[in-house]
Amino acid sequence: MPANILVVEDEPAIQELLALNLTQAGHNPVRALSVEQAQMLIRETLPDLILLDWMLPGMSGIEFARKLKGDELTKSIPIIMLTARGEEADKVRGLEVGADDYVTKPFSPRELNARIKAVLRRRAPQMTDDPIEAGGLRLDPMTHRVSGNGKTLELGPTEFRLLHYLMSNPERVHSRTQVLDRVWGDRVFVEDRTVDVHIRRLRRALTESGHEEFIQTVRGVGYRFSAQ
Ligand code: CA
Repeated sequence: MPANILVVEDEPAIQELLALNLTQAGHNPVRALSVEQAQMLIRETLPDLILLDWMLPGMSGIEFARKLKGDELTKSIPIIMLTARGEEADKVRGLEVGADDYVTKPFSPRELNARIKAVLRRRAPQMTDDPIEAGGLRLDPMTHRVSGNGKTLELGPTEFRLLHYLMSNPERVHSRTQVLDRVWGDRVFVEDRTVDVHIRRLRRALTESGHEEFIQTVRGVGYRFSAQ
């Protein structure tokens, strides 16, 4: 699954290089030249990961990282800081405010990709192919199989992606808009009601093994996966 990666970098040439590198690695880069632009983009769609330059005009990258990590809505978005070479103290400060990793400029595309992969694996398991298991329900992205208490369950492709997303982020409440962004992607126009339809189908498929109650409706807010 390609990741939506927000690149916050004020130098156009470096931004271009980052975006190109991300596209070649199979991701969807979204670009911002400043913190202000980044904030606007985040309000539209929550990115899966943020590549954040340290030195930016106006609010610095480090202040922005602190802000994002202090906000309930954005605190779980992984951040990789881009720093100038050799600024050891900066790296430590970056990790202290909650950045997940850092890459020094000039960076090698291979190193950057490896770090992005590692951070996504750690922070956004639905971006990886690792199997997930909860309360006897097992989803395997590699084989595209779901089983409940050892029984194979029949899921459509959308229900599979939906369950993958929800199981990757358990116990959290997701609004319909968030689910649409993450499961359908932000380039497709579908109504919020569509989510409800697929949630119903997903529950129906899960009744086979008695796991339908893992998909919970939080009235007026959205949906949650809970194995408790
Ligand atoms: Ca800069």
